[in-house]
Amino acid sequence: MTTHKAHCLMLPYPFQGHINPMLQFSKRLQSKRVKITIATTKYLLKNMKELTTSVSIEAISDGFDDGGRDQAGSFVAYVTRFKEVGSDTLSQLIQKLANSECPVNCIVYDPFLSWVVEVARKFGLVSAAFFTQNCAVDNIYYHVHKGVIKLLPTQNDEKILIPGFSCPIEASDVPNYVMKIEGPKILEVMVNQFSNLDKVDWILINSFYELEKEIIDWMSKLYPIKTIGPTIPSMYLDKRLHDDKEYGLSIFKPMTNECLNWLNHQPINSVLYVSFGSFAIVEAEQMEELAWGLKNSNNKFLWVVRSTEEPKLPKDFLEELTSEKGLVVSWCPQLQVLEHESIGCFLTHCGWNSILEAISLGVPMVAMPQWTDQPTNAKFVKDVWEIGVRAKQDEKGIVRREVIEECIKLVMEEEKGKLIRENAKKWKEMARNAVDEGGSVRAKHDEKGIV
Ligand code: UDP
Repeated sequence: MTTHKAHCLMLPYPFQGHINPMLQFSKRLQSKRVKITIATTKYLLKNMKELTTSVSIEAISDGFDDGGRDQAGSFVAYVTRFKEVGSDTLSQLIQKLANSECPVNCIVYDPFLSWVVEVARKFGLVSAAFFTQNCAVDNIYYHVHKGVIKLLPTQNDEKILIPGFSCPIEASDVPNYVMKIEGPKILEVMVNQFSNLDKVDWILINSFYELEKEIIDWMSKLYPIKTIGPTIPSMYLDKRLHDDKEYGLSIFKPMTNECLNWLNHQPINSVLYVSFGSFAIVEAEQMEELAWGLKNSNNKFLWVVRSTEEPKLPKDFLEELTSEKGLVVSWCPQLQVLEHESIGCFLTHCGWNSILEAISLGVPMVAMPQWTDQPTNAKFVKDVWEIGVRAKQDEKGIVRREVIEECIKLVMEEEKGKLIRENAKKWKEMARNAVDEGGSVRAKHDEKGIV
């Protein structure tokens, strides 16, 4: 029988991009004999398409058991109700587990759900906030929270200097909420991630020291920060957890065989992988520009278009698409794809998991950020780590086909792309070193070796 050192209850925000990092961190803790229970919503559990992970999962309610986030109508309505109903159902779960062999000692929560700290305090539990964005983005939200900077986007080229940043950033580089979906109310929720942090024991960030040295050093003076990234399955990085090859919990069904069979027939570094993640809603006009930009680049491509986005694809594009040119799928096993030797570049919406995965697997990028933290991530990809180019939007906010074509060619074919490709290889090594024995993730543990 395994004797556990502690029992940690994990509470991710129930979106793919937030679940993946927390699940990976859970597996690392589990390998150190910490018992893990992941608490997620009833709706998500009912709708999971793939669930192969060994960690135990329990259900709580977000107040929308039948329709989840979509039933709520808006993000703000969703998080508001989640707080009301979630506080009660989480308390009930902790009470239930209190009667088990191994009661809960610690809660790790996504700071989108900052109310969890109050529940943890009610039960006298240790708590840790787990930020799934990088430290740069957290730092920006921190300064908005403190009222030091205003984040409302402007049309001009005004530059903002943020403490901890080594370079000034422009309005187009900050997390943006340009009313695309709900406007400034979302910003309030984002900034509220910092509202309870004075009460937590640790702050965990899915990043690694070398990636954001100055910002991490700066924020460490304010908060008990531990960088614990990149949180991707061990077999893609340090290979210390032998059965850890995939996240093991997916909201979408990956078309694994179709993707890998097709990639297996493509030459090394010849394929562009394109994905906008689990959530982004791309405007129809942008979809059309992207489609023709891909085709005109004359590179082979593997493009993930979620089924809800598919109707926006131009009809003649699909009709003309042959397996000689490209493959469009509704979801793929992204890590296996990025690792595949045929992949030469990743055109990405710059979700933080996608960037960390590309860094960890040494794939150079074309950054096409959509919203939230993605513009900041894109800024770092292009200007700080120099592992990609950024496809510029026109004044209407659309990236035109010619720009897309040029960016793809630049990374995949041209001399200028050589440096970007070399840098990508360099960062891959650094990511691996960070999580390996003696790497910066471990060096950041305290003198007792406690995470
Ligand atoms: N992903 C995947 N298959 C796909 C597209 C995405 O497995 O076809 C995974 C990807 O590996 C990443 C997550 O979904 O772990 C997306 O997270 P990210 O932060 O990049 O973007 P979000 O979906 O949160 O916008």
